[in-house]
Amino acid sequence: MVTATVWNEFRHEREDDVVAEQYPDGIHETIAEFLDERGFETRTATLDEPDHGLTGEVLDDTDVLLWWGHAAHDEVNEEVVDRVQERVLDGMGLLVLHSAHYSKVFKRLMGTSCSLKWREAGERERLWVVEPSHPITEGIDEYIELPEAEMYGERFDVPAPETLVFTSWFEGGNVFRSGCCYRRGAGKIFYFRPGHETYPIYHQSEIQQVLANAVEWAAPGEGPDPEYGEREPLESIE
Ligand code: ZN
Repeated sequence: MVTATVWNEFRHEREDDVVAEQYPDGIHETIAEFLDERGFETRTATLDEPDHGLTGEVLDDTDVLLWWGHAAHDEVNEEVVDRVQERVLDGMGLLVLHSAHYSKVFKRLMGTSCSLKWREAGERERLWVVEPSHPITEGIDEYIELPEAEMYGERFDVPAPETLVFTSWFEGGNVFRSGCCYRRGAGKIFYFRPGHETYPIYHQSEIQQVLANAVEWAAPGEGPDPEYGEREPLESIE
């Protein structure tokens, strides 16, 4: 069974009534609950726990880590960032959600600023599937419509994704690469844009389906462990 750890900085939900109304127990609990219902073994971790809840032991038992952060990226300890980066390189999957584009973990793994345009105007978003045979889009229609969303617009300063799965159109005219797949070392990374804290986006069934598909996709594979360094030839060299 695939084990998912849902990490959240868990600040907005405790400080803002509008957010608390959408996610009374925190965004992490909402995500963990629907993943659990879809057959994953789930656990949560938050910023204010010791080691941000991400000890070596927790990460040893995590196939896929989901990361939601916004207001407190700077409070994430560098040691934890190092630890997460190392685990991803060793094969742990990572799902980077919405405003976590600016998390230390994502910026470290991308090596770019991960900056973008944004606007909070409660506008309509249409999230188009651009790679319909990709496992992350299984069970999804040609597009997902979000009645109210925060706009994220290009340019999104990330390396060109290995696979672009979703592209967003916004009512206000902007577009955005909303579902980006990467590999770093043995680990798979998926950036997924929707998820602003004041809208009920993680309660929407298609969004839940995409995240469940993405957890399945990002889970470590069964391939060989690569070996490195100087080697004797396998055949005799004439
Ligand atoms: Zn947001």
